[in-house]
Amino acid sequence: MTLSPDPLPASRWRFLGVVAPVLDARAGWLSALGGRHQRAMADEEVDACVAMLRSLPGVVADWSDASVALEVDVVVADAPLRRLARVGAGWWADPGAALDLVAPHLGRPRDSVLLLYPTDGAPELRSAWGYTWGTVDILGRAGFSAIVSDPWPGWATIEDPAHGFVHEWLHQVEGVYRGLGLSEDELPSLHDVADRRTTRPDAPDRVETYVEHERRTGSWRPWYRDYMTGTVGPKTGEVPRTRGLTRERWLRRPNPPMAGEAGLDAGTGRGA
Ligand SMILES: [Zn+2]
Repeated sequence: MTLSPDPLPASRWRFLGVVAPVLDARAGWLSALGGRHQRAMADEEVDACVAMLRSLPGVVADWSDASVALEVDVVVADAPLRRLARVGAGWWADPGAALDLVAPHLGRPRDSVLLLYPTDGAPELRSAWGYTWGTVDILGRAGFSAIVSDPWPGWATIEDPAHGFVHEWLHQVEGVYRGLGLSEDELPSLHDVADRRTTRPDAPDRVETYVEHERRTGSWRPWYRDYMTGTVGPKTGEVPRTRGLTRERWLRRPNPPMAGEAGLDAGTGRGA
């Protein structure tokens, strides 16, 4: 009897996106003077943030060749973000600062949480595009990313505006698979992009490195596509091998139970 190959299911991630429209927090030198960092999003910005988060399942399915199914809930917080924490060179909504806004939505288990919030433009509040923490115990071991919404007016016109969101989420993913034993030979660090290009023989970007593509278009999409499909090319001097997340590798993390199956282990048990 011949066994026909079983199509592997997509890797499922229960994703919570929280838009916090109001920042009202002490941080940095301003707080030493008794001041607060404050900004409230206009409705148009809230709508753009919600739309961005709702677009992520389609983007990730598209770029991963349907290897990933993000199950996204998007909520708009009704309380201000009142705390920021000193993180690296800046001030961020870390998991502790975000907890009040996120906790009401943790009644269902989440694999991944992303908080999107405004700043008043102070440089120390936007020292990077975003910041990500790996599995966070106080969030039920979900990953957590904080992203500042200030660049939102540009989303309508730049190429692949979701790529920064995919980047922060992939930091969460990288942490999970590193914890499951994938080496940097199998899954390069998300920032180890220089001097690489796709292994896809038919990709329109095959003639340029990922960095050259970003310089030309402003988008890292080919890098994330190949990262999510196991088609990342070697750097000079590296041996050819499968780099990135093939479907088999995605499924090293057991899929969470479907809604209504709480308590069942819906993992496939397949490894690769
Ligand atoms: Zn990064």
